[in-house]
Amino acid sequence: MISLVKPYIAPAEEMMPAIQNILYSGYIAESEPVWDFEKQFGLFIDNKNTIVVNSGTAALHISLSILDIGPGDEVISTPMTSEPTNTTIALTGAKVVWGDVDPNTGLLDPRSVEEKINENTKAIMLVHYAGMVCDMNEFNMISKKYGIPIIEDAAHALGSRYKGKIIASNSRFTCFSFQAIKQMTTVDGGAIGFKNEDDVAVAKKLRWFGLDKSVSRMNNDITRAGYKYGMNNVTATIGQIQLKHTPEVLNKYIENGKYYDDKLKSVAGIHLVPYYEDTQPSYWLYTMKVENREDFCKMMEEKGIAASPLHHRSDTHSVFEESRCDLPNMDEWYSRFVHIPCGWWVGNEEREYIIDTIRKGW
Ligand SMILES: *Cc1c(COP(=O)(O)O)cnc(C)c1O
Repeated sequence: MISLVKPYIAPAEEMMPAIQNILYSGYIAESEPVWDFEKQFGLFIDNKNTIVVNSGTAALHISLSILDIGPGDEVISTPMTSEPTNTTIALTGAKVVWGDVDPNTGLLDPRSVEEKINENTKAIMLVHYAGMVCDMNEFNMISKKYGIPIIEDAAHALGSRYKGKIIASNSRFTCFSFQAIKQMTTVDGGAIGFKNEDDVAVAKKLRWFGLDKSVSRMNNDITRAGYKYGMNNVTATIGQIQLKHTPEVLNKYIENGKYYDDKLKSVAGIHLVPYYEDTQPSYWLYTMKVENREDFCKMMEEKGIAASPLHHRSDTHSVFEESRCDLPNMDEWYSRFVHIPCGWWVGNEEREYIIDTIRKGW
């Protein structure tokens, strides 16, 4: 079976000695290996205001905390995502307000978001779902017009671009995940790219109980309770090795995605996703809409190719009961979108086989 997701792990001859070294080094909590990885990842995404944490969920939670979001506040978000985007908002006590999606892309529709803004709106949470980039020209305008900060959940979008630049410093917060199935994994981990340098020190305290690592423990004074969200030297070491391969791995996703964009554009029963102006996806999952999705997925599975919608819409979970509202475009999108394998494990032969299989119909 050609799978939809698969962790890329650097070759054992590079990875294993590094892991062995750090495990027996006598210092496996946070120290230089974490700070080195932080710098290297910051260079890769071209944002020096970057910190690493122990998950993408932690990255989102810290961002929401810096904005002091809590009970009585509202955050406009999308149901078309993986659950942590919205459970972290729920954790703060704020209400999730659903924006509807653009039925052509499955990404949050700026017009719907603007309609739902009120005096309680404290942030807009954007998800670059499956590596496709939201309509940032429009969202930047809305953010400016109403003075509402944007948190970009880029857990699916490492290497995606806006105006030619890797996504990481356009909005006040850009959150990444290094969880197992993401484009780059450290087993578990995450990062935040900040637009404002001032947020970095606040975030560093929040990731470690509220303590300031640049001051000795005995002289520390916690003014605000923080979390235990730091990365450790073991996963940071894995990250350093993984990062050396990331450009090459990402290129495979992108090459395959572009190949599908080209080969599928005139296939009956398939509707390709149009990408917004000034955006380039990094194709974590190849995403499109199909007619008769159930038949399509069944046919693909019989031919040894995984094809499925993968994510459960967030708005139908009971925990978001009080946020329920009509989302007609989401209903439309959710009934027809599908993913096909696109990652580094899909070689030229596999991708040709996938195209031939789809072209034969379902
Ligand atoms: C994976 C993911 C997260 C959370 O990342 P973890 O590293 O698993 O905590 C957040 N948002 C989205 C959209 C994700 O897919």
